[in-house]
Amino acid sequence: MRPRTAVIGSGPAGLAFARVMHRHGHPVTVLERDPARDARPPGGTLDLHEGLGQLALAKAGVLAEFQALSRPEGQAMRILDTDGTVLRDWRPGPGERANPEIDRGRLRDLLLGPLDVQWGRDVTEVVPDGRDGVLIHFADGRQETFDLVIGADGAWSRVRPALSSVTPQYTGVTMVETSLDDVDTRHPDLARLVGDGSVAVYGVNRGLVAQRNSGGHVKVYAQFRVELDRHTTPDRQTGLNQRAGQDRCADLDPADAEAVRSSLLTLFDGWAAPVLDLLRHGTTFVQRPLYTLPVSHTWDHVYGLTLLGDAAHLMPPLGAGANLALLEGAELAESIAAADPGELDEAVRAFEEKMWARADRWTKITTAGLERLVSPDPSQALALFDEVQPS
Ligand SMILES: Cc1cc2nc3c(=O)[nH]c(=O)nc-3n(C[C@H](O)[C@H](O)[C@H](O)COP(=O)(O)OP(=O)(O)OC[C@H]3O[C@@H](n4cnc5c(N)ncnc54)[C@H](O)[C@@H]3O)c2cc1C
Repeated sequence: MRPRTAVIGSGPAGLAFARVMHRHGHPVTVLERDPARDARPPGGTLDLHEGLGQLALAKAGVLAEFQALSRPEGQAMRILDTDGTVLRDWRPGPGERANPEIDRGRLRDLLLGPLDVQWGRDVTEVVPDGRDGVLIHFADGRQETFDLVIGADGAWSRVRPALSSVTPQYTGVTMVETSLDDVDTRHPDLARLVGDGSVAVYGVNRGLVAQRNSGGHVKVYAQFRVELDRHTTPDRQTGLNQRAGQDRCADLDPADAEAVRSSLLTLFDGWAAPVLDLLRHGTTFVQRPLYTLPVSHTWDHVYGLTLLGDAAHLMPPLGAGANLALLEGAELAESIAAADPGELDEAVRAFEEKMWARADRWTKITTAGLERLVSPDPSQALALFDEVQPS
């Protein structure tokens, strides 16, 4: 008999898992806390690497659709000095498809395809019970049991505590995100500044990155080192912080956009006017303090239960997290689909070993990367760019 399988979370990890399972004819119950597909803005643009995210999409059978939807020109990257001098201006050559960009919402829709997600299923806890299955508790008081449960529920996973006692720790770096719409018409100078891809500016312990999304939408990320305001950081165990987006750093009230703008303009005072215009014209502001799980996070294997993506290895957002999440989802699904029922647990265990080894490498790379990008010595950011960018 086929195991009753549930994946918790419909982010890149959960959807890749469910989609590849679907391709192999294995039904999966997808349980998602969001009340509907478009309940919240899907987020910015993601670059999907050839050997990671794109490989996962190939396993899901949607690589050709991705290629039609993605933006290879979005790989372009310009680095400016704080006075506006162009330090690097890299553009992809024709046929360059190592890391094309795709809007997160488009990727989600592409993976959703034929899947039937159960929206509004807010998981509060999972309780593994050996060969009797894993009991899932929901916020509305309901309970359900499955033979195999995959926790793909992101940074503040409710599944993780059943496997590991670690909790995400603040990196000391916060991102404040803002965005500009219809940039080609309304802000043509900024459209030129951002180009087809991204523009980044690095100063002492701070940086500003702007990325073009499709439809003339630009997302701007100001990043800097700051203490969190401990009085207003809500209890991690409730998970409410993530849902309400209430995390904040000292002196920045997310409800007051003009106050946030003014604080950022003070923080980046002295930078070139066109760069600061990215903040002047930004609309709403969202604070994203960056948290990570410890490097080399693993757990003792538990029958019928595992984690994928950020739930397993939350790392700084330096172009790897979604890629790993996608590939892990696809690989776990392939392993499960290929296993005889009696070998299922061994397949999950072997997958975990592989996931941990790869995530360990990327967690180290991205952790070191964040230190260099938001650094007392801004030349470190440029050096990092030169190390990773194809010539
Ligand atoms: C600003 C920013 C930019 C980034 N850019 C990139 C990039 O360019 N490339 C890249 O590879 N990575 C990038 N990342 C990292 C990437 O976003 C994450 O690593 C990736 O989204 C992880 O996918 P996931 O499926 O594990 O988790 P998530 O995307 O967090 O999805 C988790 C899902 O689980 C649901 N969920 C949560 N709790 C529950 C619950 N209790 N019950 C039911 N459902 C629940 C959530 O609603 C969500 O749908 C970026 C991150 C940030 C913050």
